[in-house]
Amino acid sequence: MNKIKFLGTAGGRFAVARQTRHSGGTWITIDDTNVLIDPGPGSLVRILSSKPKLNPRNLDGIILSHRHIDHSNDVNIVIEAMTNGGWDKKGVLFAPEEALKDDPVVLKYVRNYLDKVELLTEKGEYDIGTIKFETPIKHIHHGVECYGFNIFGKNTSISIITDTKYFENLESYYQNDILIINVVFYEKMRDYNHFDLKDVEKIISKNKPKLTILTHFGMGMIKEKPWRIAEKFSKKYGLKVIAANDGMEIDVDKYSK
Ligand SMILES: [Zn+2]
Repeated sequence: MNKIKFLGTAGGRFAVARQTRHSGGTWITIDDTNVLIDPGPGSLVRILSSKPKLNPRNLDGIILSHRHIDHSNDVNIVIEAMTNGGWDKKGVLFAPEEALKDDPVVLKYVRNYLDKVELLTEKGEYDIGTIKFETPIKHIHHGVECYGFNIFGKNTSISIITDTKYFENLESYYQNDILIINVVFYEKMRDYNHFDLKDVEKIISKNKPKLTILTHFGMGMIKEKPWRIAEKFSKKYGLKVIAANDGMEIDVDKYSK
């Protein structure tokens, strides 16, 4: 089965530090390739306690969208788990240069356990197992080097809009069947570099994905009950919009070609 598993759905500093929701990132299985995206705090624990079971040694690689701790905290321990403590060299890590250079979030000795480390760049195209993915544009409004993703399987296409403030035309870069959006804020904050719900509405009303999944919620969003918001958007736009829960699994094949 091709699937997306939400190990955690918390976003932003407070929801993550308080573990109001879990923050383990997203596990994607497509055409027998397993990829973990943004292993935040608790990712390994969420993987190992997942139902149905997930085995980190089955991972083919890990992708970091950016170096912020809610996206990268568990990257080192998941690399160790993927490679059987470094004994079975395998897998690829994809990360922006900034996550690897000064004040790196990926320890140097752990990098030796991997087959390869690949740098993410704007308009990059990458292969991992049978999956192809692209980083169409740098999210320059997030304070650090950050990328979103378009991921392609044989019959599957997924866009992931990771952390960013909204910018002109952003939606044109992420036009796949399934759209995952990180939405930290319920409404606009003064000092914001994240999406709020108005940004989500702008994007889904234009792109009309077959399935939209909201995730990476801050405290404000969690208080406002994301599933109610998703329901409201589904009705308003005649689209399928859902809010991710910790541990939720999506059958990707339902939304494939
Ligand atoms: Zn961030």
